Amino acid sequence: MRYIIVFITLSVLLFSAKVTNNFWQKGLDFETYLQKHNISKDVINLLDKDDAQLIDEISSKRRFYEMVASNGVLLQTLIPIGEELQLHLFRTPHGYKVEILPVSYQKDTYVALMSIDKSPYYDIIKKVKNKKLANEFTKVMKHSVNFRSVQRGDRLAIVYDQKMRLGQPIGIPDIKVAMIESQHKKHYVFKHTDGKYYDENGQELIKKYMGKPLRHIRITSPFTNRRWHPVLHRYKAHLGTDFGARRGTPILAAADGKVIFSGWMRGYGKVIKIKHDDGYVTLYAHQSRRKVKVGQTVKKGQIIGFVGSTGRSTGPHLHFGLYKNGRAINPMRMVKFSSKGLHGIGKRAFLRRKMRYTKIINKIFDENRPSYVWNTVQERQVSPKMKKYYKRIGW
Ligand SMILES: [Zn+2]
Repeated sequence: MRYIIVFITLSVLLFSAKVTNNFWQKGLDFETYLQKHNISKDVINLLDKDDAQLIDEISSKRRFYEMVASNGVLLQTLIPIGEELQLHLFRTPHGYKVEILPVSYQKDTYVALMSIDKSPYYDIIKKVKNKKLANEFTKVMKHSVNFRSVQRGDRLAIVYDQKMRLGQPIGIPDIKVAMIESQHKKHYVFKHTDGKYYDENGQELIKKYMGKPLRHIRITSPFTNRRWHPVLHRYKAHLGTDFGARRGTPILAAADGKVIFSGWMRGYGKVIKIKHDDGYVTLYAHQSRRKVKVGQTVKKGQIIGFVGSTGRSTGPHLHFGLYKNGRAINPMRMVKFSSKGLHGIGKRAFLRRKMRYTKIINKIFDENRPSYVWNTVQERQVSPKMKKYYKRIGW
């Protein structure tokens, strides 16, 4: 809540200051933004390598907030970084500073249970008012049940985790288990600890995966939306997966696509970005040499460049990022690293998890409890005065 307090306090002190919000302009880099406001780029040069890489994550698809004094001087800026952090640029008596702040949210488990009137997708949007939940549900469930056979009066249940901020859902809902009963048969999907979805027999449901970006992979740093650094005493994020590899190791396109960026980024060094189907983009950073140009189409497995240590990096490695509609997601969710599927200990762990979640969702289904609709419950927690304030500043 710290950033809100900062904003409110300043709003009171400086009557003439104005908070505005806008989408980050496409192609605008943070250095140019600083120049525009006559701020020295030292504020970036002083950042450590992790924070410098986060600056490269500023995306044109996100809304950012500015507070400007009546004389035109920028007082502060908040720019979202990934799902759970934001970059805070602010003016102090000793010049401007940059820090990475957490976005406050609460995460709760919700249940949606409903009888279908029109289609699962339509009904989830109408009854739960969460389009991303409808998208996720359809995406995972379509492999388990034929939606055309779903009829009016069939029922569905979903147990999911949702991050909430100021009464609004943020990010993609995390479906733990979902079920649809159609023609007296129950169809389930379960999310396993590996982040992938399986049916009741332990078969993977999403078969269209991306390939590995290196022939041999060794993870040196995993993806994380936000973690607390106990020594530095602040929040950090790593919006990709790092793979250790020797300098010069060929980098492979994870899927068919078109090159949309091939150039230099301050934190990520020599970078290639590839756009794929369904709103996915992959990013390959710290390259020693790039091999493809913007506009070029590439095939899955094609060599697009070579491992290096350019940008803010401590040694040769590949930083591999995956984005869905402009948001960084964990690449491990979409890349197939082994063809073995579940077996042995992994399979037994899945079966235990499946049993637990089957019990939970069947109980919800049998009791026929009304669904937990987020917007009617959460709105009460935000006072009308605060709500007006959030509305005014565009939240
Ligand atoms: Zn990295």
